[in-house]
Amino acid sequence: MTIPAHARRPLDASTDVLIVGGGVVGCATAYYLARDGVEVMLIERSDLNTQASGRNAGSLHVQLQGAFYRSDSEAVLAGRLDTLPLFMEGVRTWKELAGELDDDIELVANGGLMVAETEDQMRFLTMKAGQEKSRGIEVAIIGAAEVRRMAPYLSDRIIGAEYCPNEGKLNPTRAVPALARGAEAAGARILREVELLGIEVVDGGFRARTNRGTIRCKRLVNAAGPFAASIGAMVGIDLPISQRCVQGTITEPVEPFVSHLVYHVDRILTFKQVTNGNLLIGGGWPAHLDPATWSMTALRDSIQSNMWVAQFIVPRVAHLRLMRVWAGVNLRTDGRPILGEVRKVPGYHLAITADAGMSLGPACARLVAENLCGRKMSYDITPFSIDRFDGARPSQLN
Ligand SMILES: Cc1cc2nc3c(=O)[nH]c(=O)nc-3n(C[C@H](O)[C@H](O)[C@H](O)COP(=O)(O)OP(=O)(O)OC[C@H]3O[C@@H](n4cnc5c(N)ncnc54)[C@H](O)[C@@H]3O)c2cc1C
Repeated sequence: MTIPAHARRPLDASTDVLIVGGGVVGCATAYYLARDGVEVMLIERSDLNTQASGRNAGSLHVQLQGAFYRSDSEAVLAGRLDTLPLFMEGVRTWKELAGELDDDIELVANGGLMVAETEDQMRFLTMKAGQEKSRGIEVAIIGAAEVRRMAPYLSDRIIGAEYCPNEGKLNPTRAVPALARGAEAAGARILREVELLGIEVVDGGFRARTNRGTIRCKRLVNAAGPFAASIGAMVGIDLPISQRCVQGTITEPVEPFVSHLVYHVDRILTFKQVTNGNLLIGGGWPAHLDPATWSMTALRDSIQSNMWVAQFIVPRVAHLRLMRVWAGVNLRTDGRPILGEVRKVPGYHLAITADAGMSLGPACARLVAENLCGRKMSYDITPFSIDRFDGARPSQLN
């Protein structure tokens, strides 16, 4: 979007709450605060929805991915297990938003299938399902006949799956702009191409120095996702977040034949068919990020490996043409979101999801807004406080 000349005048503005970051989390926080009558301004250094929120695969996750058990430390895995009920809130919040926003966000929640090829993999899924059920998550282990009935497009190699009926998908390129429009309609001011450069803590709040001038605010929300650590450093907070550059691929459109979110328990894959008929294939294959120029490049090896896995699980993919491959930077925490006010910097709030931030974004934003409004919390965010690190940086994130 081109910024009109009048909007480029130097800023000398003030607001009650200043949100930094125009992805799903920032836009949803602005939406909930503005609807509650709070004076709110959001600044985004580029355009809205241009980073992780506009580049993700739109999967609405609930169940844990098999890869987490292979790559995470015990502490991170425990964090993920404890956060599972928030994923249910994530799906519930998106369903509510689908009825409130001014656009069709293409939300479909037909459930997710994590498929397996071997008895060992089935035993692992049974163990995982037990852990998830103990956290109140609805999941079921299904055998080959049921998988065939539900998903006849899967390869005959698939002998069973873990089914989570609450999972699904949505279209991030529709959902986030709709949240931003909803926020503006409720009174939020959204400023594009305004980059936060520094924060001065002053009596009664903050002076936010930007490329366009100064914004005074009583409270500030760090919703900068993968970039949140730099906004934390501006007030002396060390946020244990790391960045990961990953990629996704989309095929040409075909008639609808896949209605679930499909994963593989041991291989890197998420797979779904979007409303237009294209198959969206991802799962976290690595892409290249040049930190000097911030340019992101999809890797040929990752494309080939991702497509190989996809056609191995869904043979029909072998006959489809690829339309587009892209990369994006995601964030990684200790498995839990980081939410709420920072005790040592009163008025400074964190709105940082864990890595499945599209699934969790609006639920986290709603909780941050409830907290800012001094409301009774609808979900206990104490376990998500920055206090849990107590000055220590989890080694896995270094
Ligand atoms: C390829 C890919 C696929 C993914 N697939 C899924 C999926 O299927 N399901 C799922 O749940 N999650 C998925 N994710 C993760 C998800 O996209 C992110 O976790 C989520 O979008 C994070 O949202 P955010 O608003 O916190 O961050 P972002 O969307 O990155 O927004 C942060 C914003 O802050 C802005 N900003 C930064 N610094 C400043 C500054 N100084 N001043 C002003 N603005 C600033 C940035 O420009 C950016 O727009 C995927 C991620 C990637 C990269």
